[in-house]
Amino acid sequence: MNDTTSDTPKLSWWRRLSAGLKRTSGALGTAVADLVTKRKLDRAMLEEIEDVLLRADLGTQVAARIAQAVGAGRYDKAISADDVKNVVATEVEKVLKPVAKPLEIDAARKPFVILVVGVNGSGKTTTIGKLAAKFASEGHQVMLAFNAMTAAREQGRDVLLIDTAGRLQNKAELMNELEKVVRVIRKVDASAPHAVLLVLDATVGQNALSQVEAFQRTAGVTGLVMTKLDGTARGGILVALAEKFKLPVHFIGVGEGVEDLAPFTARDFARAIAGIES
Ligand code: GDP
Repeated sequence: MNDTTSDTPKLSWWRRLSAGLKRTSGALGTAVADLVTKRKLDRAMLEEIEDVLLRADLGTQVAARIAQAVGAGRYDKAISADDVKNVVATEVEKVLKPVAKPLEIDAARKPFVILVVGVNGSGKTTTIGKLAAKFASEGHQVMLAFNAMTAAREQGRDVLLIDTAGRLQNKAELMNELEKVVRVIRKVDASAPHAVLLVLDATVGQNALSQVEAFQRTAGVTGLVMTKLDGTARGGILVALAEKFKLPVHFIGVGEGVEDLAPFTARDFARAIAGIES
C-alpha cells in the first residue's frame, strides 16, 4: 500500500479527477439518494434512476443497461445509494475499458507528428501546452507549430504537435483547412500525421456527438481528448461517446493546469463519476 500521507502522482491525480468530476458525481449522487431513501425498489424507481442517468448525458443505451443491472435481484428490496453507485461504476467501466488506450509515440517516426483538431474554444492550445510539458518530462524532444516539419526533422525532435484552426462555419471549410495542413506535412513526411487527436469540450454536451461525426469524416481522427470535465454536471457524455464511436480516448482534462490533464483510465474515471470515494 502507498503511504497515504505522501501525495504520490497517482494519488494526486485521483484527487484531481474526483474533484474535477464532482459536479457530475454530485448531481448523480444527490438525485439517487433522494430516490432510494423513500421506498423499496420498483419499476417506477428504476425509471427515475434511468432519468437521472440520462440527465448526466450517459446516453440511452448505457442508462438503460445500468437501470436493468440495478434492478436485477433487487425488486421489492430496500437499496442504498452505494448499491447504485457500485453498479454505475461497474457498467461505466465496461463501456470505457476498450477505449481507454494510451497514445503510443512510435520512436521509428521522427518526428512523430500529432495533428490536433477541434472547434475553437474546445481547449486545443491549452491541451497542446499540457501535452508538450508531459512529453518533455518523459524525455521527448518536443516541437510545436504548423510550419515546423522541416525544422523538427533537421533538429532531430521526436514529437511534433501541430495546432489547427477550428473556425468552422461549414464542413467544406473544415475540410479545406485540414487538407491544406496535411498537404504541407506530407511534403516532408508522406506517412504523417501519425496521430490525429480530436479535442472535445465536455461542456457542449450532446453537441460533442456531432463534432465527432464531422471530424471523423474530414480529419481521420485516431483518438479523443476530452477537456473541461470539471465544468459540467453532464460528464457522462464521455461514456455516451465511447459507447457510440468506440474511438480511443487518450487523455482527459479536469482543469486549466498542466497537472489537470492525464492519461485516461477506465476504472478511475468510472469510480470518480459514480462518486466512489477511494
Ligand atoms: P482552442 O481555441 O481550442 O485552442 O482552446 P483554448 O486552448 O484556447 O481553451 C479555451 C479555454 O478553455 C481556455 O480558457 C482554457 O483555459 C480552458 N480550458 C482548457 N482545458 C480546460 C479544462 O480541462 N478545464 C477547464 N476548466 N478549462 C479548460
